[in-house]
Amino acid sequence: MKRRISDKIPALTILGSGTCVPSLQRSACSALMQVNNSRLLFDLGPGTMRRLLEADTRIFDIGYIFFSHFHPDHTGELVPFLFASKYPAANRRKSPLTILAAKGFSDFFNGLKQVYGEWIELAPEVLSVMELDNTGPETRRFDDFILKSIPVKHQKESIAFRIESAEGISIVYSGDTDFSKNLIDLAVGADILICESALPDHLKAKGHLTPSLAGKIAAAAGVKKLVLTHFYPECDTADIEGQCRKTYAGPLLLAHDLMQIELEVRHENPLLRV
Ligand SMILES: [Zn+2]
Ligand SMILES: [Zn+2]
Repeated sequence: MKRRISDKIPALTILGSGTCVPSLQRSACSALMQVNNSRLLFDLGPGTMRRLLEADTRIFDIGYIFFSHFHPDHTGELVPFLFASKYPAANRRKSPLTILAAKGFSDFFNGLKQVYGEWIELAPEVLSVMELDNTGPETRRFDDFILKSIPVKHQKESIAFRIESAEGISIVYSGDTDFSKNLIDLAVGADILICESALPDHLKAKGHLTPSLAGKIAAAAGVKKLVLTHFYPECDTADIEGQCRKTYAGPLLLAHDLMQIELEVRHENPLLRV
């Protein structure tokens, strides 16, 4: 049986399927996930807040922001997001927001605060920052989900995330990465792997995947569905599906902005039974 966890929004929405390249069709790479009562935002590059509005979601609805790494196409709208959480003062954010990113984020954030000061500082009871290990796997438990993270090959702070819900759904978000054994380990048996596929096979760039390499990871991990995203414009004139099919035979989606992905709700995750 397939159903939506929430009647209001689907459990998973691709907000942006693009890169740093300005595009009306593809906003910077970002995904929105609803897990029970929590809404999780993965990466926050330029254009993400507009896409959130188009996905019928206010910035105040977001309880968690996950940063895969610090490149501007993944973090560039953090400052406007926080500024919009404070002003106008009569309508400032009151609900808690947790930012999760790898070790080094606090230094990165402190640098932003050096520039923007109190414009982006939220009360400690509203904003908390959690740094995750950038040298090995890590697991954290939250009320609505379990988070697993692992370093991947892109920047030294680059990590991929796996979210496991109480319904037994597991979703993996690769962030930017080159071919990574760690990503295979993290994605084993996942319902959905949202995987970067920045450039076509013949334009492979260091630190990024191609469709056939992403397919190789998905096949090795035995994921139930692969969603390719983070497409540079060169991808729009290449046979991305055909290249991915060289290595992966399972269900495949090529992301576009505001794509909604329905999830199959299964058994309760025993890890969440307390
Ligand atoms: Zn990057
Ligand atoms: Zn990127």
